[in-house]
This record gives sequence, C-alpha cells and structure tokens, in this order.
Amino acid sequence: MVVTLSQQVQIWDNVLKLVKERISDRHVFDSFLADSTIYKIDGNKIIIATNSRLSCSLLNSNSSYNNLILDSLKEVTESEFEISYISKDDIAASPAKPVETKPVFFSNCHLNTKYTFDNFVVGNCNKEAVQASLLITANPGVTFNPLFIYSKSGLGKTHLLHAIGNYIKEKNPYSKILYITTDAFIDEFVKYVRGDQENESLKDFFKTIDVLLVDDIQFLSDKNKTSEMFFYIFNTLVNNGKQIVLTSDRHPNELKGLEERLVSRFNMGLSINIHNPDTETLIEILKKKIEANGLNINNFDADGLVFLAENFCKNVRELEGALNRLLFHTINVKHLDRIDIDTVKESVSSMLSTKSKAKAITDERIIDVVADFYNLTETQIKSKVRTSQIALARHIAMYLCRTMLQTPFIKIGQNFGGRDHSTVITAVDKVENGLKTDTQLATAISEIQKRLKS
Ligand code: ADP
Ligand code: MG
Repeated sequence: MVVTLSQQVQIWDNVLKLVKERISDRHVFDSFLADSTIYKIDGNKIIIATNSRLSCSLLNSNSSYNNLILDSLKEVTESEFEISYISKDDIAASPAKPVETKPVFFSNCHLNTKYTFDNFVVGNCNKEAVQASLLITANPGVTFNPLFIYSKSGLGKTHLLHAIGNYIKEKNPYSKILYITTDAFIDEFVKYVRGDQENESLKDFFKTIDVLLVDDIQFLSDKNKTSEMFFYIFNTLVNNGKQIVLTSDRHPNELKGLEERLVSRFNMGLSINIHNPDTETLIEILKKKIEANGLNINNFDADGLVFLAENFCKNVRELEGALNRLLFHTINVKHLDRIDIDTVKESVSSMLSTKSKAKAITDERIIDVVADFYNLTETQIKSKVRTSQIALARHIAMYLCRTMLQTPFIKIGQNFGGRDHSTVITAVDKVENGLKTDTQLATAISEIQKRLKS
C-alpha cells in the first residue's frame, strides 16, 4: 500500500483522537503520546516516532497502551499492522532518512514484438488504417494527432497498435514508446494515485513518453476521475508534439459516458474505421498464418481455405481459432499431408455449430447490420442527415424492423432518433415499392437478411 505523507498525518490524527477518548489516564496521553507521529509505513509494519526515549520504552513495554493504539489503528485503517516505536532523538542521531518510494508505473505493459506490419495483411477493409499508421510512424506527432482507429472486435486494432510501436522503435531505438490497454491505465490510476504527490508522479511519468498507444479507449466511459487524468495527459502529450494512437470499438462520437471535451480531442486528429474483411483478404491472412507455422501452403486445397474464410468472416481472431483447430487436428492428431475441404469441414464443424446458434434479431441489431453493410455508423442511420446513401440505409433498416419483427411504427420512430410514425410508414412504403422494380435494392436487402440470420 502506498500511503502519502498527508494520508499518514490524517491516519495518525484519527488514531490519536480515538486513543485520547479511550485512555484511562489523560496525563499519560498528554506527556507520552500527544506529539507522536508516524515515522514510516512499510507494508503492514508501522513505526511511530515518539517525543522521547522514555516514551518509546514505555510504549514498547506496556501492552495495554500498545493494544489500545493497535485497536484504534485497526479501526481507522481497517487493516492489521505490526507497530514499533522509535524516539525522535534516535531518528535525528541516525544517518538513515526515510526512503521515499516512487511507484514504477506500467511495469507490466510491453510492446508485443509478434505484431508487425510485415505480418499484417492489407486489404480494402484496412488499407486506410495501415496507410495512416505508416504515415505517423514516419513522423510521429506531426501528421495526425491522435490517430483514432476503430472497428468491431477481432479486426486487427491491437495488432496495428503494436506494429506502429515496433516499427517506430526499430527506426528509433531511443524513442520511448508506451503501449497500454485502457484497463491497465484505470488500474494504475486506482492503484497508485491517492493524493497530489502521486498525481504529479504519474503526470511526470507521461511527460517522458514519446509515443503513447492506448488500446480500447471505450472502457474509459463513466470513469470520471480517470478520464480527468487522461484528459490532462492527452493534452500535455499533444501540446508537446508527442504522438498518440487510440483504438476503440466505435467512432469517437459514439462513445457514451465520455466527457464532450475528451470526445472533441479525439476528433482533433484522424479517425479511421477497419471494415469487415473480404474473402480475398481473409485467404491471404490464412496463407500468412499457415506459412508462419512453417507449413507448405500447397498442401492446402484452395476450396478448403475459401470455406474457412467464408464461414469465419466477421472476426480474424475466430478465423485464427478455426485454423489452429484445423492444424491441430490434421497435423498433430491425424498426421495428414494433404488438407482438403472435407477435412476442413470436419475439423471446424463443432465451432460452426456454436456459431450457428443465431443471435436474436432486434431493432438495434438490424440498425447495426444495415450500418455495417453500408459502411455507416449507427449514429448516422439514426440522425436527421438526408444524403441519399444514409437515407436509403435508414429506410431499409426501418423496413426490416417492420417486416421481420413487426415492430410498431411508433416504436420504430422512437428507435430511429425520435421520428414521427408517419415518416416511418412513408419509408417502409418506399422500400416496398422499390422492391417491385429495383433489383439492386432486392439484392442488398436479401444480403442484409442473410447476415442477420447468420
Ligand atoms: P482487435 O484488437 O481489433 O480486437 P486484434 O488486433 O487482436 O483485433 O486481432 C485479432 C487477431 O487477428 C490477432 O491475432 C491479429 O494478429 C489477427 N489479425 C487481424 N487482422 C489481421 C490482418 N489484417 N493480418 C494479419 N493478422 C490479422
Ligand atoms: Mg484489441
């Protein structure tokens, strides 16, 4: 436990108050204890500085006073301590001064050298994110600050953060790069920052950082005190030209429970979305991972890889899981040389059956899937913006809520940013009429329905 000086004073004041109320002899308190202080706390050991050697020997030898002090200390701190005493004269005579322990921040946070640009497959889904990442590695702190990368889970955000860090480190080994998860930041803040002194040490620590990589910033939501500290650190780094890269599962504007001033800082730089990968990119990823395992890609039938890519298309982590399972089965268990589509199907069948327990279809999920289909955000779908692409997506989402779930028009209006029910009726009619002639619309809707049912 790190206890600041001011907390020590507070603790001992409260202990003395209790002892004073409870002690049988007021004179003993006044002459032996009243001006004692805490000399040192080290774990569960506490040393009290007394006003004289006589006080020290009295307190060391008298168990009833000692127990009274220990009980009061326990009441105040809700912790068990071992107590000893030292006289202030002895402290003055001793050359050893109390050692101030400075916390070592983020000792468990390291860049993972496994994640690099070299083993990150670039496709249409992530091209912009990779380009922006490479641009900032060329000139940290100069181009976009912060770079904000967002996507659904398993699409490579963490991989890219480490790749950025590793690449900058490779080019400039002296650059001080810190990769942290938002959870680690919250933990560190809660663990160490108890008073002004530690606040300052944490701020000082961040002043030494050149590149700050923060993963999953959405977890800062509703953490007001921690956000305040993060806001300070963010501003200091940006003002000093230091690069910040953040990742999140959503666009800054969709982060709920975060102060407006923080969201507007996040919007200051460049926000980039990683989309769902297409089959081609997923197959490339599979090939890279197979080669990384020291295996020959020619032993894998192409249709087997296509099967994997098509069935694990939403999350590269899941795709990797499926591949690992396949490799384990075919190489370790069955010792096969050739891996065809039937072997693939058999190896991952149990994973597919778990996946096929389809997620419930709700209005919110419809909005989510339609937004994803059109590369829009949920906020755009619910907004009042009427550009043709957004309006089309909105009308389709309303139509699906009505036809797939029979949601009342009024409810749909509420779910879509508080619209009137007549607006919803018009939108649904429009899509219904469009479907009679517009084959492109029909294809889009059937693809969205397929995704909703998968
Ligand atoms: P996120 O942080 O977005 O949830 P991760 O970065 O943890 O996703 O990626 C999940 C796994 O998928 C990691 O093992 C990562 O290496 C891999 N991965 C994701 N995208 C790619 C890609 N484009 N190329 C190679 N591997 C990828
Ligand atoms: Mg991640």
